[in-house]
Amino acid sequence: MQKRILITGAAGFLGSHLSDRFINEGYHVIGMDNLITGDLKNIEHLFKLPQFEFYHHDVSKFIHVTGHLDYILHFASPASPIDYLKIPIQTLKVGSLGTHNCLGLAKAKNARILVASTSEVYGDPLVHPQTENYWGNVNPVGPRGVYDEAKRFQEAITMAYHTFHQVQTRIVRIFNTYGPRMRLNDGRALPAFIGQALRGEDLTVFGDGSQTRSFCYVDDLVEGIYRLLMSDCAEPVNIGNPDEISLKDFAEEIIQLTGTQQKIVYKPLPADDPKQRQPDISKAKALLNWGPKVNRAEGLKITYNYFKQLPASELHKLPK
Ligand code: NAD
Repeated sequence: MQKRILITGAAGFLGSHLSDRFINEGYHVIGMDNLITGDLKNIEHLFKLPQFEFYHHDVSKFIHVTGHLDYILHFASPASPIDYLKIPIQTLKVGSLGTHNCLGLAKAKNARILVASTSEVYGDPLVHPQTENYWGNVNPVGPRGVYDEAKRFQEAITMAYHTFHQVQTRIVRIFNTYGPRMRLNDGRALPAFIGQALRGEDLTVFGDGSQTRSFCYVDDLVEGIYRLLMSDCAEPVNIGNPDEISLKDFAEEIIQLTGTQQKIVYKPLPADDPKQRQPDISKAKALLNWGPKVNRAEGLKITYNYFKQLPASELHKLPK
């Protein structure tokens, strides 16, 4: 029988790439999304396929899916600060109620579920690089708390369903990921820099630019998620690219890549902005035999080419 997978957040950046991957693996994919931050354009190429169906639905409300399900990937959630600061309650709801609904569905359908957690569960980390056994440094009542704590609750309830209901669960802690179908205006450094370069604006770096990030190309992330789903590891696993770079150096790389004549301008650092972010991926290497394959130069070129071919209207679009 054809395997069936439910992917929540399917119209988003990661959900759409995961939908492509599982279609290519021969699955029947049920995409679910309320389009609050996603865009049907990301999956419009799948609509003509009989092995793809789409439910326009808010997963924080009861989820009903007919037929059997083998797997659930719960990826619905606003993911960038610009989004979750604008819709904080929906963010808390989708991480808590939405996850509860997905876990209930997994239990009812006897399906294996993988939930999308984040490096943000480590908050502004006091340990570097971050291993899965670091518990984090999160300000629950700071502006980012709505996202970080929703994801921490998500991990806790997922583990509880595993322990108390024997649901087969997987938790992926995703570090910054980039690639085609990101939104130029989602406020994250990479699309923000490329958008500014394409519009002929100066590149804005917050703080002195010494804070670091590490960027994982989306195809590498999807491979890691696929391997984790197929593994028997119920504990959280970091998936990300440990190649760390300061935001100032990164802005300079984007200036090189795009050939823009603009310069870097500095603005004050937002509250609770993490100073350092780098995954320790020893666990993923050991358990999943996984590591990133696409280097930043290659990944950035593909991503820049994607942004370059977008209609001019996209360049000036305000955040949703
Ligand atoms: P995205 O905003 O592109 O996609 C999220 C999707 O979820 C959107 O299509 C949105 O419309 C949908 N959604 C949000 N709330 C919903 C709800 N209540 N019901 C149904 N659909 C809903 O973001 P993304 O970057 O693709 O992130 C996907 C997941 O991965 C999120 O859970 C995010 O927390 C996690 N994650 C992403 C990154 C990253 O670097 N992109 C890093 C860490 C974790």
